[in-house]
Amino acid sequence: MPELPEVETIARDVRPFLVGATLTHVRLFKSDVLRGVRRAAFLRALEGRGVASVDRRAKHLVILLSDGNRLIIQPRMTGSLTVERDGASDPYAVIEADLSTGGRLRYRDVRRLGAVHLLDRAAWERYTARIGPEPLEKGFTPARFAAALAGGSLAVKKALMDQRRLAGVGNIYANEALWRAGLDPSRPARSITPAEIRRLRRAIIAILRSAIRHHGTTVRDYRTGTGEAGEFQERLDVYGRAGEGCRRCGPRRRIALTHAIDQRATYFCPGCQR
Ligand SMILES: [Zn+2]
Repeated sequence: MPELPEVETIARDVRPFLVGATLTHVRLFKSDVLRGVRRAAFLRALEGRGVASVDRRAKHLVILLSDGNRLIIQPRMTGSLTVERDGASDPYAVIEADLSTGGRLRYRDVRRLGAVHLLDRAAWERYTARIGPEPLEKGFTPARFAAALAGGSLAVKKALMDQRRLAGVGNIYANEALWRAGLDPSRPARSITPAEIRRLRRAIIAILRSAIRHHGTTVRDYRTGTGEAGEFQERLDVYGRAGEGCRRCGPRRRIALTHAIDQRATYFCPGCQR
């Protein structure tokens, strides 16, 4: 958390304010989110720089600067990126920059579990090469997905959440996709048949698209790029529904919860997930 739909929502929300703007008066209130770059070099690299594009890769925001370097922000559990229109300060602000087009870019992170990188082109290419295919891009074919799941005896749920195999899917959407595809999350990835792979791939794509349309899922701290909560938590079929009736089997089949697969909360229906 936040996963692909949440980071995509943030990117879409802040993009119109950032692209074409110049960052000025850059402030860094806490340095412990920085990875591989020191405070002084970080501030120097951002000050006076323009923003060429704002994108997402997996669960990371990718802000391309006018000099070709990229600012990468991984909000992880408690981070958010917004463009603020008023002058109010925030005790959890970590990075702020004024925008030449008006407003202020703010990265806030309550527990500072997020990570911020500054990468040149070569470092970015190494970074992105370590991450698996994007599930909402054309290249995510059934064959590519089958290859991503192949090998090893790990549970299919763990395989889905492994960022080297597939980009952007975390605990919430892995639970949802497996329920929708009718697959037991504990099954070894290598036991998933070609027909099941096609069903799971379609489920992943449909759920991620729907979650983006509803601005992501807010369980705790996630906020959109405009500072609001998402809406997809109202539409979750299994995540957070332990003890409630299965929406496919009916009210007498209850959603189960286990932590046995990967220490994370796994919600599933013992009736219809095989
Ligand atoms: Zn069921």
